Parts: sequence; structure tokens; C-alpha cells
Amino acid sequence: MAHNILISGAGIAGSVLAYWLAERGFNPTVVEKRPHLRQTGGHAVDLAGVSIEVIERMGILPAVSDAHVRHDRMVFHQRRGRPIEMPRLTATLADRHVEIQRDALVELLHGAAGPHAEYIFGDTITAITDGPDAVTVEFESSAPRAFDLVLGADGLHSMVRRLVFGPEDAYRHDLGAYLSVYSYPNTVGLGSEVVGYFDVDRAAFTYPVDDGRLARALLLFRGGPMGDLRDPARQMRTVRDAFAGIESHLPFPIDELHQSEDFYFDSISQIQMNTWSKGRVSLVGDAAYSPGPAVGGGTAMAVLGAYVLANELALARDDHTAAFASTEAVMGPAVAQSRKVGPSSLRQLVPGNRLTAWLTPRSLRLLVRLPRPVALALFSLQGSDTSRLDDFSSERLPLG
Ligand SMILES: Cc1cc2nc3c(=O)[nH]c(=O)nc-3n(C[C@H](O)[C@H](O)[C@H](O)COP(=O)(O)OP(=O)(O)OC[C@H]3O[C@@H](n4cnc5c(N)ncnc54)[C@H](O)[C@@H]3O)c2cc1C
Repeated sequence: MAHNILISGAGIAGSVLAYWLAERGFNPTVVEKRPHLRQTGGHAVDLAGVSIEVIERMGILPAVSDAHVRHDRMVFHQRRGRPIEMPRLTATLADRHVEIQRDALVELLHGAAGPHAEYIFGDTITAITDGPDAVTVEFESSAPRAFDLVLGADGLHSMVRRLVFGPEDAYRHDLGAYLSVYSYPNTVGLGSEVVGYFDVDRAAFTYPVDDGRLARALLLFRGGPMGDLRDPARQMRTVRDAFAGIESHLPFPIDELHQSEDFYFDSISQIQMNTWSKGRVSLVGDAAYSPGPAVGGGTAMAVLGAYVLANELALARDDHTAAFASTEAVMGPAVAQSRKVGPSSLRQLVPGNRLTAWLTPRSLRLLVRLPRPVALALFSLQGSDTSRLDDFSSERLPLG
């Protein structure tokens, strides 16, 4: 049985994978490029349907539920007139749904997997040589090592994908929008509410975190290709420029982004690959099938995908080729479905014209007043639609 498995990335997929591989008798090693897990940033992510079952079986559902975000009201600022207030939509609609800050989830998953896996922080894979009996891996800092398998759980801009499948451009499909998230001192006095503002081609939200000591800003905006945006200073300028002219309507001071220690910026892009396995290497989570940050339920997909991969490897014993193929077969329908979610969520979240910007908070208010079955039928929960994931919870998903 392939025993020593290297996982690149200690995000969501990486730690779920490490936990379940160890549980199934493998020796996982996780290499993470960040020096530590703290202050990894990100905003609230959603777990729904069967992904919650995976978390429950890891024994951390009570802690995850405890850490879930507690925002019970939404307030939308308007260009003119009084703000529009309503109860929180997810609180109204969701059956089995947990919304949790990404960094809190990453820490809890690491807490569950950490005792059973070797974690190497502050390092990255630089070369992968696939051989008949093993994969030889070179690192930026550590000495080269051989593993039975290498699994890339290193996100949208996966290094493993680049090294084994070629440049990102061949697989990345930009949805024409960008996402930025950062924390700032809660000087605006947020209590338990999410405050938002919709404008043409841009939307901004803020909510309290860290027991109200800090607040987090989430900014979404449409834009065409922008070339290489890896430089954080350029990213910040891009975000600042996208919201120029409407600063006074935003529910938070946008210039705080320059002081933030956890500024996050990325394009809202999908990864579309016909296959995400080659030889002794496979990809999981965003690296293989990102449905688009903030819009597509990528966290639930990463949890599911990692669980399925670990399970198929255990079932196939020595035949990793069969395990990779059956993982792709099991995940295929959910991946195809998730690709459709992103563009429609984006249309809901970022209005395309002034009329939609005016209508969006009003239709949300109408929605929370409707009887629950009617509201559910009309609204998909921002890319984390529980019913879609529940469809996936068939006998084929070996939860047991
Ligand atoms: C800092 C950060 C903030 C995020 N914020 C949001 C957000 O606000 N909203 C949202 O919807 N999604 C956000 N995402 C993406 C979201 O976490 C994923 O879409 C989803 O959870 C899928 O998880 P994943 O484990 O596949 O990928 P990710 O959660 O992206 O995890 C990938 C992990 O791999 C690590 N990594 C990357 N490159 C390498 C490398 N070369 N070597 C080793 N390790 C590497 C990363 O540091 C990260 O820990 C964020 C991701 C990151 C990394």
C-alpha cells in the first residue's frame, strides 16, 4: 500500500486530507509555504450538507459550530435615504449550514490532523520527478525526499499543478471579478450585524470578528484582465481605485486596507481541468476544481474532495491509478454543478446596473419575509446551496 504521502498546502483540503489519510493508515506529510497558520486571513466560508458530515466525523463539529459567525441582522446602506434592515438570510434559510471564518476553520482542521501528520511550515515544493516506484520531491529549504504519492492541496494558484500539468493559464477561467478581504479595528462600532453597500459593478460588506475587537471588510468588484497582480501594493491600489468616488457610502474606512496585516486579494476564477491526476500525483480542492472564491462553495467542495480522495486511496489499496480515477468519477457531478454556481452567485452579489443595485437589498428584504419554502425555492444560498450538496450525498459517498 502506498504509504508515505506528501500533501502540498495546509489550507482546508490539505488538513482534511491529512486527517483522513492518517485515519485510513497512511503516513501524511504536509508542506505549507506560510510560516505558520495564524493570521492567514480570509472571510467567512460556508460548510453545508455532506461536508458538515465529514467535519462531524472528524470530531470537531462542536468546535466548528461554536466558532460559527453570529451575525443576525443585515443592514444595507443606500446612495440616498435610510439604510434598509432585515434579519440575516442564512439564519432564515439554512437547514444544516455553518458559516465560519476561514482562519478559524483552518486552525481547527489543523488541530484535528496535526497529531497524526508531519507538518512542515515555511517551505514549498520546487520540483517533482515522477518515477515508477516513487516520486522524488525537491523543496526550497528542506532536503529532497521520496514519497509514494504527491497530492496538491495548494489552492487556486497551485504549485503542484504548475509543476506537473503546466502553466495556470491553461486551466484558469476568470469570471471577470475580484475579491478582497481584510481586517481593521472595529472603530465603526459594529455589533452583530453585517453591513453592506451595493453599487454598479461593486459591492462592499463588513461585519465584526474577534468578539467585536476587529471588523472585516469584504469587497467585490468587476474588472477585466489585469496582468500580474501578485504584488500586494499593486493589489491594494487596484482595490482602492475600484471603489474611488463612493468612499462616503461605504460602511467602513477603505483606507484601512493599507494598514491591515491579513489583506487578501484574488481574482474570482475557476479551475477547469479534464483530469486532475497524472502518474503518482493528484490535485484536490481549489487546485483541481476551484469554483471561484466567495461565490462557488469552494470550501465545502475542498472538504468533500479531500475526504473522497483519502477514502478511495484506502479502498484501492496499492492501486493509486484506480483510486484517482474513482475519485474523479465520484466528484465529477459535484464539480460540474459547482462551476455553474459561481457566475450566478456573482450576478446576485455584484449588481450589473443601477436598477439592480437599487433592487438587490429590497428583494433580499422581501425574501426574508416570505415563507421559508418559497424563499428557498427563489434563492440559492450564495454558492453553498445545501440542497445541491445534499444531492451529492448518495450511497456513492462512502461516509462510514
Ligand atoms: C489566505 C487565504 C484567504 C482566503 N480567503 C478567502 C475568502 O475570503 N473567501 C473565499 O471564498 N475564499 C477564500 N480563500 C480560498 C478558500 O479558502 C478556498 O476557496 C477553499 O477553502 C478551498 O480550500 P483549499 O484548501 O483547496 O485551498 P486554500 O484554502 O486556498 O488553501 C491552500 C493552501 O495551500 C497553501 N499554499 C499555496 N501555495 C503553496 C505552495 N507553493 N507550497 C505550499 N503551500 C502552498 C496556502 O498557503 C494555503 O494554506 C482564501 C484562501 C487563502 C489561502
